[in-house]
Amino acid sequence: MSETITDYQPRKDLLKDKVILVTGAGDGIGRVAAKTFADHGATIILLGRTTAKLEMVYDEIEAAGGPQPAIFPMDLNEARIETFEHFAEAVDQEFGRLDGLLHNAGLLGQRTPIANYHYGTWQQVMQVNVNAAFGLTKTLLPMLENSEAGSVIFTGSGVGLKGRAFWGAYAVSKFATEGLMQVLADEMDGVSNIRVNSINPGATRTNMRATAYPGEDPQTVAAPEDIMPTYLYLMGDDSRGVSGKQFNAQG
Ligand code: NDP
Repeated sequence: MSETITDYQPRKDLLKDKVILVTGAGDGIGRVAAKTFADHGATIILLGRTTAKLEMVYDEIEAAGGPQPAIFPMDLNEARIETFEHFAEAVDQEFGRLDGLLHNAGLLGQRTPIANYHYGTWQQVMQVNVNAAFGLTKTLLPMLENSEAGSVIFTGSGVGLKGRAFWGAYAVSKFATEGLMQVLADEMDGVSNIRVNSINPGATRTNMRATAYPGEDPQTVAAPEDIMPTYLYLMGDDSRGVSGKQFNAQG
């Protein structure tokens, strides 16, 4: 069963003193989520593939008066378990804590029938959308355990809830994402302060959406800013005790 948050009014200091990692923070939904979390008081770790984009988000957060963020360039397609282990050590050394983890980075891959799908592209999509999320989660769990109320958010998709033709590895990776969310939430249940949920953003005005729907007028779909209430709700303490749930960010 999907959940929806309506009329959520977050406090301005909702995320004060929290350290939050956002993957794919340089563009699209991740960029806006990083800036929105910072605007509500969080120190943001910006992880992404393109350093110049991360630097722009860094500057935007600083210019808005948010807590000083940190930049960690990482190509999740190239990352291996050692990469994630070193990253977790670096986060521990620099911040000594982690309160939130937004798995947002994603790769669309091809829009083509399974019969034509390129094997290498399939593996890349699964690596970025699923394996990297597993690697980051596994290595960062000990730090999240130390948080008073850690929150892990995975990013799903409508095609990861009901399969559709030509969405290939992307759809399959999003089904796997929901599975990872559910397994982890069940493992945390009753033994940990960590809550684990997923968000389906719904049609949102980003480069990925424009690539998937080239004929669509971008102005007819929601802006990333419009879907932030669900992200804030799940990242902040108002959602304590909520776990194992799949949210739709649009009604
Ligand atoms: P964008 O393509 O606009 O942004 C994706 C982000 O992920 C970019 O910052 C990109 O980095 C980063 N990324 C991609 N590959 C890698 C990699 N190998 N290593 C590190 N970072 C990487 O997509 P959206 O903002 O639209 O999507 C965000 C999430 O929301 C995704 O998980 C997507 O599947 C999901 N989603 C989006 C919907 C929509 O309508 N927009 C609908 C449903 C789900 P760079 O900028 O450097 O390329």
